[in-house]
Amino acid sequence: MSLIVQKFGGSSVATPEKILAAARKAIRAKLEGHQVVMVVSAMGDTTDDLIDLANRITDKPPAREMDMLLSTGEQQSCALMAMAITSLGHKAVSLTGAQIGVKTDATFRKARIKSIETARLKKVLDEGNIVIAAGFQGIDDDFNITTLGRGGSDTTAVALAAVLRADACEIYTDVDGIYTTDPRVIPEARRVSRISYDEMLELASLGAGVMHSRSIEFGKKFDTPIHVRSSFTDIPGTMIVAEPERPDMPVSGAAITKDEALITVQAVPDKPGTSLEIFARIAARNISVDMIVQNVGESGKADLSFTVPRNELDTALEAVRDAAKLVGAGTVSANDSVAKVSVVGLGMARQTGVAEKMFRALAAAGINIGMITTSEIKISVLVPRDQSQKALNVVHTAFELDKPPAKPIEAWKPKAHGTDAAAVVARLQGLNMEDLTIDDVSLDASQARVTISGVPDSPGIAAKVFEQVAGAGIFVDMIVQSYPTTESLATLSFTVPQDQLDHSVTVAKKIASDLSCRGVTSSPKIAKLSVSGVGLRTHTGVAIRMFRALSEAGINLDLINTSEVRVNVIVDGNQGEKGMKQLQAAFADVLR
Ligand code: ASP
Ligand code: MG
Repeated sequence: MSLIVQKFGGSSVATPEKILAAARKAIRAKLEGHQVVMVVSAMGDTTDDLIDLANRITDKPPAREMDMLLSTGEQQSCALMAMAITSLGHKAVSLTGAQIGVKTDATFRKARIKSIETARLKKVLDEGNIVIAAGFQGIDDDFNITTLGRGGSDTTAVALAAVLRADACEIYTDVDGIYTTDPRVIPEARRVSRISYDEMLELASLGAGVMHSRSIEFGKKFDTPIHVRSSFTDIPGTMIVAEPERPDMPVSGAAITKDEALITVQAVPDKPGTSLEIFARIAARNISVDMIVQNVGESGKADLSFTVPRNELDTALEAVRDAAKLVGAGTVSANDSVAKVSVVGLGMARQTGVAEKMFRALAAAGINIGMITTSEIKISVLVPRDQSQKALNVVHTAFELDKPPAKPIEAWKPKAHGTDAAAVVARLQGLNMEDLTIDDVSLDASQARVTISGVPDSPGIAAKVFEQVAGAGIFVDMIVQSYPTTESLATLSFTVPQDQLDHSVTVAKKIASDLSCRGVTSSPKIAKLSVSGVGLRTHTGVAIRMFRALSEAGINLDLINTSEVRVNVIVDGNQGEKGMKQLQAAFADVLR
């Protein structure tokens, strides 16, 4: 018999009427012949209200007691939902996280799911009930109630769908799907019928806050299709699955992040272990770092730029200043008036000219690009915050994200779960469900690097560079531009196939002299070392583990870039094999 998980968020169960409406949706699915598990959030602003209440008693509520308190929000709505279904003449049983057997670790307020028991759920379902599960909660080994972090009911829902091998996991919410960008910011944004897990993970990390990131990680890891749709209409929403709607299109979505600030460390001695020193100190203060860009510097010094949450800038700066002193780096500076604009798409990995198109759109709008970093499926640039809205707009239009697809989209078809269920279970044997899993540690030894130094800080340079490079038929992989520092000059590096190096250098030199840049350097053989997997974002420290492993082997990092699904570093070509061995050893415990 088919099984459907339906999750209703706080706004979808905010009033008795809405609870009854949700109950009818579940009953309808039941009458269509499915077994139904509902997952509910707390009604409306209940969780916020409970937090306020606690804060009126004390400003330091014990975390354990907070979870005891917050879990009651979901317990309320789940009991009410069971009553609603019963009143409409159908059988229902409500269950708390503990009753289901959602086992978590003991990290109160942001616990991770370790395992879920299915026996009780299945028994209650087989007796003909609709099961209503309280979202967002579990118990640790000592039976303490835990919660999964704000927005965690999504994660409960997808996790339940995964362990029950559900045919669908429907997330009912107050928006009708996933858009190419936030429709409140860009009204032309289009709802997509389908988006991939990886794209969604990137977009979620960029603040496109429709779904709890960890729920997407579950989807990807356990191959569970997720359907995000409106609780107030019946129109289909967006499927989050392995493949996007239009795999041939380079970009599926765009986003703007305004709550990050930039830190730049100049003249970092270009030797093993310096990045580690800096990032380990930031991590020790529990601050997450984003958009790391390290560029090859002149005379043995590198520039290191990265962003941190704006509200943690002061603490981060303290940590960085300490580290900079220790490693003998130069000035540490901060910039709080930037914003990050990103485009995301699985399709860009297979196409050329994508970055160029983005840079060209920004140049045409007169917007200066401060920093650039590209990964396989994401390009991010830093622009002045007061121009960021416009930047998002022109980029969204340049990639035709506002236009409906030219040819009709084939409907997504579920594949039978029979075979993958066994494979997935085998793959994750002996693991906790939310453990970090690394799918791949890889070495690409086929590339060379070109670096243009002393690039003037004015609009249009990146566009010109990559236009000419592309025009010369050169295939660019990674692009890294560090934030302009000394005398407003930036450093721009990119990687190309080794056999195109001479050609690339000729082109770069021509551009450098045309645009009065300082000069061009290159490295004929570099090694790109990558670690990819699930949970790279929510398990901080993957990049640090990588830096540590390479630094212990005395391997120097030339370029760094990070994304939600992959961390890449570029090292000297002769160090590739050695680096690869180091990384395989460093990640052996989580490599699947
Ligand atoms: N009620 C919890 C919150 O508001 C969990 C959820 O809604 O997903 O964060
Ligand atoms: Mg909520």
